[in-house]
Amino acid sequence: MLKGKDDFCEVPDLGSLKQEGKFRLVYMDYVSGKPVDSRVLEAMNPYHREIFGNPSSLHLLGDLPVEAVENARKAVADLIGAKDPKEIVFTSGATESNNLALKGVCFRNQNKGNHLIISAIEHISIINIAKYLEKFGFKTTSVGVDKYGLVNLDKLEKQIRPETLLISINYANNEIGTIEPIKEISKIAHDHNVLLHVDAVAAEGQIPIDVQKDGIDLLTLSSNDIYGPRGVGALYIKSGTMIEPIIQGGGQERGLRSGTENVPGIVGMGKAAEIAKKEMESDSARIQKMRDRIINTVLDTIDHSYLNGHPTLRLPNNAHFRFDYVEGEAILLGLNMRGIAVSTGSACAAKRLEPSHVLIATGLLKEEAHGSLELTLGKYNSEEDVDYLLESLPQVIDRLRKLSPLTPKEE
Ligand code: PMP
Repeated sequence: MLKGKDDFCEVPDLGSLKQEGKFRLVYMDYVSGKPVDSRVLEAMNPYHREIFGNPSSLHLLGDLPVEAVENARKAVADLIGAKDPKEIVFTSGATESNNLALKGVCFRNQNKGNHLIISAIEHISIINIAKYLEKFGFKTTSVGVDKYGLVNLDKLEKQIRPETLLISINYANNEIGTIEPIKEISKIAHDHNVLLHVDAVAAEGQIPIDVQKDGIDLLTLSSNDIYGPRGVGALYIKSGTMIEPIIQGGGQERGLRSGTENVPGIVGMGKAAEIAKKEMESDSARIQKMRDRIINTVLDTIDHSYLNGHPTLRLPNNAHFRFDYVEGEAILLGLNMRGIAVSTGSACAAKRLEPSHVLIATGLLKEEAHGSLELTLGKYNSEEDVDYLLESLPQVIDRLRKLSPLTPKEE
């Protein structure tokens, strides 16, 4: 059963999903969604009823929400080393932040250029925003990655043109967990007077991010990915960066994101950021130990198993495998029947059943990509969860391989 690591961290009741006595329930799909930390819920609660005022109101009921939003802005700024909390704009989530970053920079600076560069392994939201911008005359170049998912820096630099406005690269990849050399990428971008946007959704709260030291101009954050509520996110916009708002209205968030502030959500994201800053190091160390046990045991004990992504430059919670002669979806269903929730790639593309563009970009063949499985751990996982996974996974794969016509006879 999913268990809290200690008293103040108990996990939400998974209600009807629980089938006591039949199987354990083990969640290893933290990249797709995280339970909200109970301390975050507690911090948000008063802002639904007692402190419900609109921050734009001039009367006394508007004051407390303003203070709460500004405290949250400071906590989010602190998490990523921003110089000034004013550099944080709250949004409805990572997709909106990515839209604001890419469209905002392109539309505001179209007199200077019309070109942007993304990596071949960006989240689908980045890829689709770049495609959309082509309707307005912008051009996108997608830069390839090596077999580990690392952006090729030489190729990146060669793709920069005089009309390039922006480079957008993920801090770490949400599927294979590879951590990109952001500082080096920033140097390349700035040497050519190009802005750098970084989607930090997969990395935030797991590894330290410092926008000043890393040289980042715009950074996308999502609240749920640090155990905050859904429906909130933020975009860091370095002071002085020219950006056009994409939502027009009442001029909230210094005119960069109109619409009445989601005060409870913002307070929740602020609390989640404060907790992440304090506990990230110890949580990540514990999670990485479990993750390493999974990787080492799987590679040692399951024949024809391989690790996708980088062996060391990877997020502490990510274990991404490829198995010959079996489909990732079949493994997922087999584990699901035993109460273990995992993924085969990005939840945003899970229902399309197409091979992951991330795995294909790392050079895998379609059939190899289809044999992949993504396990992402989180702060509510325990060593017992790992024991149960490591007992179940070889059994599921063995059974599937026995049934598979692809398995060589001698297997
Ligand atoms: N970027 C990355 C790297 C993601 O993994 C996701 C999905 N969690 C998003 C952006 C979009 O997030 P959301 O659907 O919460 O807006």
